[in-house]
Amino acid sequence: MNEKMLKFTKLDMETPNKRARENRTKDFKEIYSKFINKKAQEQSSRCSQCGIPFCQIHCPLHNNIPDWLKLVSENRLEEANELVHSTNNMPEICGSICPQDRLCEGNCVIEKAGHGTVTIGSIEKFITDAGWSNKWIKPIKILEEIDQSIGIIGAGPAGLACAEELRKSGYSITIYDRYDRPGGLLIYGIPNFKLEKFVVERRTDRLRKSGIKFKKNFEVGKNITINQLRKKHDAILIATGVYKPREINLLGKNLKNIFPAMDFLKASNKKGLGDKVKNFDNGILDAKNKDIVVIGGGDTGMDCVRTAIRQNAKSVKCLYRRDRENMPGSTREVYNAEEEGVEFLWLSNPKKFIGKSKIESVLVERMELGETDFSGRKKPEPIPHSDFEIKADMVIEALGFEPEDLPKLFNSPDLSVSRLGTIKINLKTMETNLSGVFAAGDIVRGASLVVWAIRDGRDASISIEKYLEQKKEKKIIAA
Ligand SMILES: Cc1cc2nc3c(=O)[nH]c(=O)nc-3n(C[C@H](O)[C@H](O)[C@H](O)COP(=O)(O)OP(=O)(O)OC[C@H]3O[C@@H](n4cnc5c(N)ncnc54)[C@H](O)[C@@H]3O)c2cc1C
Ligand code: SF4
Repeated sequence: MNEKMLKFTKLDMETPNKRARENRTKDFKEIYSKFINKKAQEQSSRCSQCGIPFCQIHCPLHNNIPDWLKLVSENRLEEANELVHSTNNMPEICGSICPQDRLCEGNCVIEKAGHGTVTIGSIEKFITDAGWSNKWIKPIKILEEIDQSIGIIGAGPAGLACAEELRKSGYSITIYDRYDRPGGLLIYGIPNFKLEKFVVERRTDRLRKSGIKFKKNFEVGKNITINQLRKKHDAILIATGVYKPREINLLGKNLKNIFPAMDFLKASNKKGLGDKVKNFDNGILDAKNKDIVVIGGGDTGMDCVRTAIRQNAKSVKCLYRRDRENMPGSTREVYNAEEEGVEFLWLSNPKKFIGKSKIESVLVERMELGETDFSGRKKPEPIPHSDFEIKADMVIEALGFEPEDLPKLFNSPDLSVSRLGTIKINLKTMETNLSGVFAAGDIVRGASLVVWAIRDGRDASISIEKYLEQKKEKKIIAA
């Protein structure tokens, strides 16, 4: 064993993995804490009402945070609920799952002064929960039906936010989705322990009751072409997200029980929703009593390791080729995962999948951080002769997502996409190169956040409305 390897073996014996092994707990750390009125008021009154609201500036929706904090501190919850909804279509969802430490809370002036942030996300959720329990949140009532229709492809947060805004103006909306439930990654990607599914269903039910039509199990490109859809509607929004999993091309990659993250998470979410899932019920996608290896240190990786722990896996290891400091996943989630018993193998890269027909183990090589690369991060480089093997009954690949080939999928070769496959739009209007076809959310930005998808959906609704008004005017003039 060379000197470097000795060092790493020693490191493995130390914290945090030791802590993970010893502290494996059933006391799972959920992502937000429930608030009671008194606590919310106390937290809200900590806001200094500073002159420049950095929290608001750094919230992608520019939520009017200082004003709704003031209303909560005065126990004026109904007004706070109205204000919260004026800029956000799903405040309780953002309040639960936004990475607040990078957005609003991370820029709170009190946090910057070293006194700990006002817990903005939890208060946003508290206000909206009060809105639901007091029945202040009702289906949309429109003043007048407009005889123009919009077809929205994708029922994720971008599509839903756009649909809601346009419905408020009276347009007729149909949302097409290839899944059997609306919600996109809110329903089948993000695990239940981070976002309870009734919260998502409550939102989509409200939209249905507001007159928005949902066409489920309907895949654009398969059940209808985009050009047929364009003839059916006055405008189209593409909000299809990014779903092509990045793969690692290793020897043994075709062995059984190696899965992309979304297969694992979708099966788990479907079970949580009470569905029969063949590949979960027969044990294939169930982590129970298995040695699980998750590859990738981003937020999806964290969702996989924490889901596997909750399924009572025998062991859960996470391989990441850089070190803890350079891990892309949120620090809070890594810490929680460790507390729950996940072992992180930092500076470790899979080299080969080993097994006869099914995966049995993963050959891993140790890495060290070398020169800084073009991305500004230190490049991981393999340490010669540092290989070791870890047992695996199931491997989950969580290496991120890319856009599918939409021009091909939609049978629309003229739809303009970037080198990475994301849809190109006019940044002012969000219109694609196809007239009357707009795009929003991850399919434009690449894998991003729910709050940005909502922002894009709202921005697209403004442009679509302008486009439809002009279309109507032209029709009147021509007549
Ligand atoms: C595991 C995981 C965890 C995440 N956790 C968080 C988090 O904690 N916080 C956060 O802010 N963000 C998180 N994200 C990111 C967030 O979920 C996405 O940025 C967001 O959902 C993007 O919204 P969207 O509307 O653009 O696309 P999506 O939510 O992906 O929705 C797209 C919809 O389009 C449908 N669709 C696709 N193609 C077609 C077609 N051809 N025809 C019909 N329908 C189609 C899909 O079925 C889907 O319902 C997470 C992502 C993943 C994968
Ligand atoms: S939407 Fe997200 S970033 Fe904005 S205030 Fe709410 S939790 Fe913070």
